Parts: sequence; structure tokens; C-alpha cells
Amino acid sequence: MPLRYKADYRTLLWALAMPVVAIAQYRDPSLMKGLLPLAFYLAMAAGTIAHNHNHAPTFTKKPLNTFFGAYISVFYGYPTFAWVPTHNLNHHKWVNKPGDATITWRHTNKVSLFIALSYFFVSAYYQSVPIRQYIQKARANNPELYRRILGQYATWLGCSFAFLALGLALHPWREALRLWVLITVLPQLFGTWTMMFFNYLQHLHTDPWSKHNHSRNITGRVFNFLVFNAGLHTAHHENAGTHWSELPKVHARLAANIDPELNQYSFWWYLTKQYILGPFVPSLRSKQIGRAPWDVPDTAPSRMEDVAKAKIDAVDALVEGTNAQMV
Ligand SMILES: [Zn+2]
Repeated sequence: MPLRYKADYRTLLWALAMPVVAIAQYRDPSLMKGLLPLAFYLAMAAGTIAHNHNHAPTFTKKPLNTFFGAYISVFYGYPTFAWVPTHNLNHHKWVNKPGDATITWRHTNKVSLFIALSYFFVSAYYQSVPIRQYIQKARANNPELYRRILGQYATWLGCSFAFLALGLALHPWREALRLWVLITVLPQLFGTWTMMFFNYLQHLHTDPWSKHNHSRNITGRVFNFLVFNAGLHTAHHENAGTHWSELPKVHARLAANIDPELNQYSFWWYLTKQYILGPFVPSLRSKQIGRAPWDVPDTAPSRMEDVAKAKIDAVDALVEGTNAQMV
């Protein structure tokens, strides 16, 4: 198997489980009790796999990477190329500063369950701009990239409706529709929703101007096993090309330099503190650490005009193939 890293055998195992779990439920809906939560988990895992694959391609061979990017789109819930304009070229460049389409402080920097839950919709709206620009530029300047983008849309929509067709072949139409929403559509929405929610938690109240305090980490081992080390976000931003399997090593090196508030052990305890206990015990809630993201230092190169220009330059560079990391 032409994998770049042996650790990705686990990625492949998870990826193979995705259609198996879906088809098993369409064939025998009585299995949903046990398998539906797994389908939701696998959709979230598809999101972390899509993220990893866009930073560090899974295979040594380009056609396999192209195939895998389209395949994982089906279970993640959106064509995975979209990570490139919104994440690789935008979020990693600005890291929650002005210019980042995914900023956590767009309407307020306060901890609020409403903001956390609605972040997906706000962020998706602002991310649609770089996605549209990227597709337009690919169409004009890079036919191969444009074909891959169209291929991902066709695979995502084609396979999603193929699941509906499978349901219709096995069940009366009402039941087929119900199964399709539960087994395919809702997990897909969950996959994209959780990725944006993670981004929100990982950057809210962090200091993007700091060398080590620009991200929040979840350090628990079980959590990181389940999300392919996506909890170790400082290490990921240190060098986005570092393979996910090597992030614990990088985190161990950086951990002592990170504000302890930004190294949270438990994902669930962190959420409990913010949204369940926080309204009663405000001291448990997170607060801005260091310099606020919008407080641009005079010396920083990221004044707003430069931000706009740099974004366009970055998309141009990619579309023209000088930095063709899309797979
Ligand atoms: Zn990333």
C-alpha cells in the first residue's frame, strides 16, 4: 500500500468502516441503535481525516490522493478541496487575526453557548467567499484543479443520492427518506459542524500574536486517539505539514511554553466549565489570554489592506500551481 506514513493504515480502516456502517444500517435498520452513533462519530473522523489529507497527502501516488479526497468528501459532508482556500491558505496564514474567514470573535469575544452553536453558520457564510474565488480562479487558470473540484462535487452529491437510492431499493419511500436523513444527511452535517466547532474552541480567547499561545489544546489521550491528534493544535500550527501521527512528539517539546490554561486535558470537562457551570461560576469560563486578535500591533504586517492583497496573492499562487497542495 503506497502510504506515506504507516499510521495511516488506521485512517484507511476508519475510511473503510464509513460505507460499511452506512450500508449495514440501510440493510437492517434495527442495527441503527448501535451503529448510528458510530456513523456520527465516523463523520467527525472524516472531517479530521480530510483536514489531515489536505495538509499532508495520505498516499505517495497522486491519483490515489485524488480518489481519497473525493471519497472522504462523501462522509465528511462537503468536497474536501474547500479546506485549501478556507483553511490552508487562509486560517493557517492569519490564525484568528483580521483576515481569517473563520475568526472566533466576529460578533463578540464573550463565551456564549449561542455563539458556539451558531458559529458554524456564521463561519460557513464567510468561508463561502474564498471558496467561490478559488473555484473561479481554478476555472480560469488551472483546468486540472478545476476538474478535481468538479469531481469532488460529483462524488459527494452522486454518492449521497446513491445512498437514497439504496434506501428506496430496500424500503418503502417514506422509510427510505427517514433512513437517508438519519444515516447519511445528519452525519454529514455533523461532520462539517464539528470541524468548525473545533476551530472555534481551539482559537477562542487565544493570542494570535504570541509564539506559543495562539491555540487551545485538548491533551487527553483517548480524545486524541479518536480525532487523529486534532486536539494538539499548537503543534499543528507550528508546522501544518507535520503528519498527525507526529504531533504528540511536537506537543511534548512545546507544552512547557504554552499557557497552562490553553492545555486542557478533557474536552468534555472544558465544555462543562464553559457552558454548564460557567453561567453560575464565571471564574470557570475562559478569558482572553494575552493580546486580543483584533488588536493589531502597529508593527504587524497584517493591516487590513495588506490582508486583502495577501489573500488574493495566496489563492493566485495556489491556482497557478506554485503551491499545489490540493489533493
Ligand atoms: Zn490545519
